[in-house]
Amino acid sequence: MAIETVDSTVETLESELKGDLITPEDEEKYDEARRVWNGMINRRPALVAQCEGVADVQAALRYAREHDLPIAVRGGGHGVAGRATVDDGLVIDLEPMHWVQVDPDSRRARAGAGATWGDVDRETQQFGLAVPGGVVSVTGIAGLTLGGGMGHVRRKYGLSCDNLVSADVVTADGEFIRASEDDHEDLFWALRGGGGNFGIVTAFEYECHPVGPEVAMCFVWYDGKQAEDALKFFREYTEDAPDEVSLLPFYAWVPELEEFPESSWGDSAIAFLGCHAGDPEVGEEALRPIREFADPVADFSGTIPYVELQSMLDEDYPDGRYYYWKSLYLDELNDEVIDSIVACSERCPVPLSTVDVWQGGGEIARVDADETAFPYRGVPYGLNFEANWDDPRETDAAVEWVRESIAEMREHSEARGQYVNFPGLEEDSSEIPFGDHAERLAEVKAKYDPEGVFRAHGNLKAEE
Ligand SMILES: Cc1cc2nc3c(=O)[nH]c(=O)nc-3n(C[C@H](O)[C@H](O)[C@H](O)COP(=O)(O)OP(=O)(O)OC[C@H]3O[C@@H](n4cnc5c(N)ncnc54)[C@H](O)[C@@H]3O)c2cc1C
Repeated sequence: MAIETVDSTVETLESELKGDLITPEDEEKYDEARRVWNGMINRRPALVAQCEGVADVQAALRYAREHDLPIAVRGGGHGVAGRATVDDGLVIDLEPMHWVQVDPDSRRARAGAGATWGDVDRETQQFGLAVPGGVVSVTGIAGLTLGGGMGHVRRKYGLSCDNLVSADVVTADGEFIRASEDDHEDLFWALRGGGGNFGIVTAFEYECHPVGPEVAMCFVWYDGKQAEDALKFFREYTEDAPDEVSLLPFYAWVPELEEFPESSWGDSAIAFLGCHAGDPEVGEEALRPIREFADPVADFSGTIPYVELQSMLDEDYPDGRYYYWKSLYLDELNDEVIDSIVACSERCPVPLSTVDVWQGGGEIARVDADETAFPYRGVPYGLNFEANWDDPRETDAAVEWVRESIAEMREHSEARGQYVNFPGLEEDSSEIPFGDHAERLAEVKAKYDPEGVFRAHGNLKAEE
């Protein structure tokens, strides 16, 4: 649909909304409103409806459907594939709905779908509670929860989606429903790991857990030459690590920051980031072996406020940088797999990047495989190639590095699948990341969104 055709009816929609309606004519606001976190994405929607509540969402959806406009739903705008915006369509922007309410007695938190993990942590920590979220506080709760959600307390308290108690949803035909274990169970199943393919979630209700206010964490950097030994050490450590510990070793390059010795700037490194979700004193002891594996280049470990840990990496992921992230799961971290991880890492052409190994298991693996749509529960490790760069001339090399690395890792029989929330740009439609749950998800899609109004994650289509 041409933008001019939309213009004639835009005023009606504007009058129906409590929030702002931004058009390309709003020179001041349009560029900000259309932008998402990933600088690789540069789309020009016809309209951005900044929704203040369910009524706004319903009005915007109704308008888009009546005018046959493609729809994008924006939670925190941090989706790696950039699906929160759309050319010539309507963006349903939920950012104004970032309220959070905590009931400390029932240990439940409700949050609007525009909230970030920083918003949730701030409110829940007032009561010494936390909802398992991600490891960067500016990320949206919406996309992260709908795709699964792995964070610093994942092995103790599970994925974000495992802690979802109910979700308020506006369906493709504009109906408002609440999905939970007791109502619309099929939809509730799909929302926990199947992505934003089934409707617009306007609010999330979560179970909270006692965490913090201080937690023991490790953040220790070793020389990249020790990467193989460090990953072998990690493999041994994870064999009987307590559930409280969730570790994330990553291959990286030492940043030019005064916190690091100048002589190490630019060198390759293997770092361990991790948290202990229990008593900090016990945590410090549990994490000690990771800090004593070798002589570190730098060690920032210690006991810190949980909210500080949650926002520690925020500055490393500025808006507008170029990002291309793609993942797979590993059934084993044998010597061959480790060799390949290190070899792929060493070939990285853009040194702002990292190669991350997510420790799985614990509570994630205890949830029955079919209880939620999240696939690959039992796998002990996730692997994510994060290409990050600032110069557009490096784009081809960065993307090629990730694609080639993923292809190389897939040659190992132990490597499979893909995490819905680390999907590249979903440019390859043959990669559907839902494993054994793909068929059941397509059935739910056919029931709640038969016309394919929502195309959020993983190329999911209604069953044919
Ligand atoms: C800096 C950074 C750090 C990250 N760290 C982690 C991490 O620690 N753990 C982890 O598991 N993942 C992590 N991720 C991945 C993250 O889970 C996804 O990028 C996630 O999609 C972000 O959610 P969002 O709401 O900000 O994104 P958006 O771009 O707003 O949305 C992502 C997708 O979900 C859809 N969607 C959004 N809101 C709704 C809604 N309310 N209803 C229906 N569909 C909706 C969108 O249409 C889009 O397709 C990280 C990503 C970034 C950029």
